[in-house]
Amino acid sequence: MSGTVVEQAYEAVIGIECHVELKTVTKMFCGCRNEFGGDPDTQVCPVCLALPGALPVPNRVAVEHVVRAGLALGAVIPPFSKFDRKNYFYPDMPKNYQISQYDMPLVSGGVVRFRRDDGSEGSCRLTRIHLEEDTGKSTHMGSGDGRIAGSTHSLVDFNRAGVPLMEVVSEPELRSAEDAVAFLEYLRLTFLYLGISDVKMEEGSLRCDANVSIRPVGSTEFGAKTEIKNMNSFRSVGRAIESEIERQRNVIAAGGRVPQETRGWDEANGVTHSMRSKEQAHDYRYFPDPDLVPLTLAATWVDELRHGIGLVPIVAYERLEHACALAPAQLRQLLGDPALARFLLATVELHPDDGAFAQAAANWLLGDVLRILNERGTSIGAQSTLTPRTLAECAELAMGGAITSKTAKELLERVMSEGGSPKEIVQREGLAQLSDPAAVAQIVAQVISANAKSVADFQAGKENAIKALVGQVMKVSKGKANPQLAESLLRERLKQT
Ligand SMILES: [Zn+2]
Repeated sequence: MSGTVVEQAYEAVIGIECHVELKTVTKMFCGCRNEFGGDPDTQVCPVCLALPGALPVPNRVAVEHVVRAGLALGAVIPPFSKFDRKNYFYPDMPKNYQISQYDMPLVSGGVVRFRRDDGSEGSCRLTRIHLEEDTGKSTHMGSGDGRIAGSTHSLVDFNRAGVPLMEVVSEPELRSAEDAVAFLEYLRLTFLYLGISDVKMEEGSLRCDANVSIRPVGSTEFGAKTEIKNMNSFRSVGRAIESEIERQRNVIAAGGRVPQETRGWDEANGVTHSMRSKEQAHDYRYFPDPDLVPLTLAATWVDELRHGIGLVPIVAYERLEHACALAPAQLRQLLGDPALARFLLATVELHPDDGAFAQAAANWLLGDVLRILNERGTSIGAQSTLTPRTLAECAELAMGGAITSKTAKELLERVMSEGGSPKEIVQREGLAQLSDPAAVAQIVAQVISANAKSVADFQAGKENAIKALVGQVMKVSKGKANPQLAESLLRERLKQT
């Protein structure tokens, strides 16, 4: 089969462009609120509507967000940067140009290190990260939707026009759809940990395009690339890239040529379709924005931002992986919630290099703690009763056998409702596990004489009857008896009778 031969001979070359709306109080160049939703055209002013004479002023927080993103990804922050006008006509762009950055972006280089689903490592370098403004939002209405009977028309909402937008451009170093998705996931997590964006694909605060080409294995030249748009989830990104690689392989196998173009992703049919031939940079007639002074970034200010970066997801992954043996799926679950990852790391650091303790803390957090939080409809970051210290105490008490696992669970529920120190509660209320053989033997004797039926069942060979008897010992001891001790004493006594 000729298809098989082509599949072995070609490799995919994938680069990603990712647009991220930044979390700021106001828009990029004016004082309008930067909020998702709201009635159309209610968050607009002369600047973001581009009325004559209105002048833009850059948002300092947006600049800081982009610089922090670059620092978190190990990039270079050039001391000098500027804004340029990117000229093109589009109905949702009131100026008919977009303020963007052409040849002197805020961030140069950087690398995204990521982990795949199986835990293996990958990485992809970044070309640049720059800052620009978002456009408005068009809604294309079909014929007869009721607003303008019988016509096909478009609606424009300018609330989004001028929202600060960060564009991340990767080098074409990704070789599979799986790697592209993992790259995007770590990029998304990085911005989530930094708190610079909501990164919600469903609300459009994170959008991405993929550049895909194929070339013979061993070649260092690039084939003609297609840019895929309109993917609305990471799953779509993966499917779209896979489908596009396959399409290009088939074109070449049939002796054809892949033209450079922009293609849209059709989610329902699982295929990409041609949209337009790809623009070149010169189509945009970039020139420096004469209304904005260039940015000079003081080294001391950049250093200040560098010191405030905090935990980044790939480091959180590595620390958690080092501390305890968790499955990749569990690590992904922890990483997905920065508050959860930080909580476990803070707990684990109370007993550094104690693998058993770290494992117990992780099991508690991913098991009972998450279950209780879910039941209460809250999250670890939104509650303050349980702290890394008190979770550590619960784990220590249960690990050392000081309390039974049943008492430990009850204690956790209580601490998560009322707060307080589990160790103090155990001491104050005498909840410690009963591990004194003589005391447990006394209860065992009592249970044997009161449960003749279970005793007879067990002695008749019904192994399960021992569980009922242990349950009785636990009940009489109010949950405090050491269950292993109770069972061994029961077996010993019942053998003798
Ligand atoms: Zn405005």
